[in-house]
Amino acid sequence: MSDVFMNTYKRLPVIFAKGKGAWLTDINGRKYLDFTSGIAVNCLGHAYPPLVKAISEQAAKLCHACNYFQSDTSAAFAEKLVAACAGAGMKKAFLANSGAEANEGACKIARKYSLSKHGKGRHSIVTLRGSFHGRTITTLSATGQDQFHKDFGPFTEGFIYVDGGDIEALDRALDKNTVAGLLIEAIQGESGVRPRSQDYLDAAARLCAERDILLMLDEVQTGMGRTGAFLACEGYGLKPDVVTLAKGLAGGLPAGAVLAGEKAAEVLQVGDHGSTFGGNPVAAAAGLAVLDTVAKPAFLSEIARKGEKMREIISSWNHPAISEIRGKGMMIGVDIGIEAWPVLEAAIKLAQAPLAQPGLLLLSAGKQTLRLLPPYTISDSELEQGLEIALDILKNMQ
Ligand code: PLP
Repeated sequence: MSDVFMNTYKRLPVIFAKGKGAWLTDINGRKYLDFTSGIAVNCLGHAYPPLVKAISEQAAKLCHACNYFQSDTSAAFAEKLVAACAGAGMKKAFLANSGAEANEGACKIARKYSLSKHGKGRHSIVTLRGSFHGRTITTLSATGQDQFHKDFGPFTEGFIYVDGGDIEALDRALDKNTVAGLLIEAIQGESGVRPRSQDYLDAAARLCAERDILLMLDEVQTGMGRTGAFLACEGYGLKPDVVTLAKGLAGGLPAGAVLAGEKAAEVLQVGDHGSTFGGNPVAAAAGLAVLDTVAKPAFLSEIARKGEKMREIISSWNHPAISEIRGKGMMIGVDIGIEAWPVLEAAIKLAQAPLAQPGLLLLSAGKQTLRLLPPYTISDSELEQGLEIALDILKNMQ
């Protein structure tokens, strides 16, 4: 392990060299079944042939042209992305590079919309406790978790946190005289895979519409088919004003997007916002390949079916320590009643034991929750194999 990296990540004891489908191979040739998709990024698995082809062909043609110009690939990607999000009412896109950058763009849209329509003093953005919106100073401000706030103040002003699920608290927080936007995850990923209820999201949408507060869905983790709908908000029948995407957007290359519906589509004008790499043609080519595969009803139904199958298998374990299984589609959180990190380590070490068998890559979300985000292209038998490995580990650790 190299020690020149800043010490920002708690790392698991493995160094990867390559991947194919749902499998990663480490530098010693050991194999690991991937239930992480690089935290919902490699949504089509590793070295997915159409993605590899799209990236290589685009890299040989044009890597970057800067945003003084449009490139044919970036334009095609933006068109296809907006079309894929039309069900949620999206009309226009801004292309960025990450989830945090997309959420920054969303906050700027909310503030400018409110300022130009309602005047000064109405700039607050409401977010939920337990949310995660990124690591920049502003998106940390938006993130409703104290653990991320120590050491980095002062933060961007104007963020208000409410407890998710409490409609009255939301009603009180969404003050029409001071609030510009509500930024919300339909399913909180980082803090334990916690879906919001239909009632709560319906109330949020109604309150925002009544008060002309922008409803902004952070779909950085839940978007691009992860929950079995192209956008999670579609599964809830919502039509937000703004949607942010990243992670799976380009299947493994850095990409983010801010999408805007009718109300917000024209808010940002020339000079208001930008990003040197945003809409990069290689990332856009990758994004097109992802959309070509994922944005199809039959493919989305398969994600929903595989997710259901995973939940059925986990429920059938009747494991005494498992207290709850949450999530939608192939975004699943399992409360295991013990620390999750040692389970992640044990799943890796399986491949490194003398009687080496396949290892398993798992994620945690919160201290005692396993988070399962396998690639959509994983086969049923690989899903069964991975869950069997997970069950064996849990049995051995009780
Ligand atoms: N929003 C959500 C819901 C996320 O899950 C994440 C990352 O985990 C982010 C934003 C930040 O994305 P990025 O790390 O690409 O900046």
